[in-house]
Amino acid sequence: MAELKPVEAALSALLEGVQPLGSERIPCDRAAGRILAEPVAATLDVPPFDNSAMDGYALHHRDAGRWLRVNQRIAAGATGEPLAADSCARIFTGGAIPEGADCVVMQESVEVDGDWVRVPEGVPAGDNIRRRGRDVTAGSELLPAGEPLEAAALGHLAGQGITEVTVRRRPRVALLSTGDEIVDPGQPLGPGQIYNSNRPMLRRLLERFGAEVVHLAAIPDEPEGTRRALEDAARRADLVVSTGGVSVGEEDHVKAAVEALGQLDLWRLAIRPGKPLALGRLPAEGHEARFVGLPGNPVSSFVGAWLFLRPLMGALLGAPALLELPRLAARAAFATQTGPRAHYMRVRLEFGTEGISAHAFRDQNSGVLSSCIAADALAVVSPETRLEVGDRVDCLWIGGA
Ligand code: AMP
Ligand code: MG
Repeated sequence: MAELKPVEAALSALLEGVQPLGSERIPCDRAAGRILAEPVAATLDVPPFDNSAMDGYALHHRDAGRWLRVNQRIAAGATGEPLAADSCARIFTGGAIPEGADCVVMQESVEVDGDWVRVPEGVPAGDNIRRRGRDVTAGSELLPAGEPLEAAALGHLAGQGITEVTVRRRPRVALLSTGDEIVDPGQPLGPGQIYNSNRPMLRRLLERFGAEVVHLAAIPDEPEGTRRALEDAARRADLVVSTGGVSVGEEDHVKAAVEALGQLDLWRLAIRPGKPLALGRLPAEGHEARFVGLPGNPVSSFVGAWLFLRPLMGALLGAPALLELPRLAARAAFATQTGPRAHYMRVRLEFGTEGISAHAFRDQNSGVLSSCIAADALAVVSPETRLEVGDRVDCLWIGGA
């Protein structure tokens, strides 16, 4: 029997030679979640002018402690006049600092008498002023290539007045399910049949990783139909993902079909859940689709998607943030003993003042999809390890909004 391969070996085989896909120009309004294909340079200083961080009074700091006449009012959006001698300006948050002023004193600290105010002594120059260019300087790099356009990055683009960006094309994915026992929700369930859980689950994960799922189909447990389904999928997609049918059972035809059409490596991974993993290439007109065959078991394909499809999306999108799952050290709130395979346990993390603790779902059987529902991490327990409550365990973060 072939030896079990570590995850890392399969992952480097999977990512070998993968290049980021092409790019497209799209309006920023539709760019949420997309990956920048090229760096964006700043053309504006942000803020574009010195402005007040407070509602208060703008003055020169050497005038602090003296009575000053308030002879102008500068609201956000307005610009004032240069300060006359012995004067200050009423100013509001975001208002432009007038020439001659070098600090703002908040209104709560000021003595007011009609049009006159006195601010306490000892106000330092620069106080409560948001300096021009403090956030972004014109000419600097605003965002690097590979940056996911999430909330703050979108805000940053808008801060430059930018309306369009060049983003990576989303990888087109064909998602196939094998198994004559698999039925789509909406259809009646016959004896011996089960509903297709993998399809919506993997579709959601793939979309979350940045893919566009362009094709969904079922592969029959039969050689010729399997070949046709794979050929069709490869034509439509950059990546063909299938679930099931990659064990060595008599009804597992995917392996032979991918081998006949292109190239396939079947890996027996040293992980639990999810031992079999098929990696291959499917040549189609004008391009070559990558092929990933995940196990049929929903828990195994869930874990496999996080471990393999996410970094693959990262490579296809040129998005370094997707290449590796964030790793956290936690204290195990459970005990376990592993065999020859590393166990990727579905855990819920608790963040306490004493640190992070990992709570394993009570039933870690690979057939129990409930274990994935509340999981916000995969706790990785190495092969042949006795883990006790309180021991350190490395966790891969799969949670978040
Ligand atoms: P296989 O890898 O084809 O041997 O499938 C392993 C197990 O996962 C079997 O019990 C299948 O019935 C089940 N399975 C395969 N595909 C799916 C699916 N799309 N949804 C739910 N269960 C599945
Ligand atoms: Mg099957």
